Amino acid sequence: MATRLEVRNVTVELPTPEGWVRPVNKVSLALGEGETLGIVGESGSGKTMLALALLGLDPPGARRTGEAWLACRSRNGAPPPRENLIAAPAGTMRALRGREIAVIFQEPMTALNPVMRTGAQIEEAIRIHEPDLREEEIHRLTLAALGRAAVPEPVVRARQYPHQLSGGLRQRVMIAMALAASPGVLIADEPTTALDVTVQKQILDLLAALRRELQLSLLFITHDLGVVAQVADRVAVMYAGRIVEEGPALEVLRHPRHPYTEGLLRAAPRLERGHLASIPGAVPSLNALPPGCPFAPRCPRRIAACEDDVPELLPVSGVPENRRARCILVC
Ligand code: SF4
Repeated sequence: MATRLEVRNVTVELPTPEGWVRPVNKVSLALGEGETLGIVGESGSGKTMLALALLGLDPPGARRTGEAWLACRSRNGAPPPRENLIAAPAGTMRALRGREIAVIFQEPMTALNPVMRTGAQIEEAIRIHEPDLREEEIHRLTLAALGRAAVPEPVVRARQYPHQLSGGLRQRVMIAMALAASPGVLIADEPTTALDVTVQKQILDLLAALRRELQLSLLFITHDLGVVAQVADRVAVMYAGRIVEEGPALEVLRHPRHPYTEGLLRAAPRLERGHLASIPGAVPSLNALPPGCPFAPRCPRRIAACEDDVPELLPVSGVPENRRARCILVC
């Protein structure tokens, strides 16, 4: 499988009154063509900040280092160029967003413009990347994008405003808009969190079908391990800005090795359990990280040596699959 996105040692630093903090700390990962990589972790683990850094949308004043090489799609027979999303100038990022790498967010009501008809918003997304197209062609592509996202009655829906649509339909419009310019990579940041479970399943099925049909590479950010199990080929678990475990999704979910992944799985709701477990404590503040392993204060398996150094992300011993973890007890 060809690599579509290769992230190497990406770090994001933010200024605070107490000094610089690192919500994303030397993250490396690879996303193959047509592959779905699930990024999971609690709020504050760095998942969304990583996505924003890849899109060039990190907050003003942020510092980004490392590399994130995006293999662009071949167009008009030309050899596909590679772009470093971390070093690309703002103008290049504007051209890449939507055309090569796109995003859908958790709450489409805040992402969509409330005073523009949905069709006009998709037309605008197409016009930015295809300024020479005639208006009739842009309109035809807009209806095709809505149809591809399984929006019923696209002609009617294109004339409506976001508040006239249900939550599920709004998310379908967001997907249509994100894919209107045929990007190769889609970042889906908690795309189903605001939806009820039946609509959630429909959106997950739609994303899976579009991934197959369009050979999309999908970076799927979620805190929900049940969702990851449904959509992801591989999974990377983040904690305090770092990847702490990664590997094939079903392997990691069935046989977690890092104590944090074990805790997340214990905390996932299941009918047969009847009660919810939780991980004691909270994600540490980025300007007050504990010495050594950042998970140590919450870890039921910690030993004195855990406080010596931050563990490296290393292959998990005794496991045949491509598994890595950041824990001195399992590597
Ligand atoms: S290194 Fe120690 S504290 Fe950190 S996850 Fe492993 S056992 Fe727990």
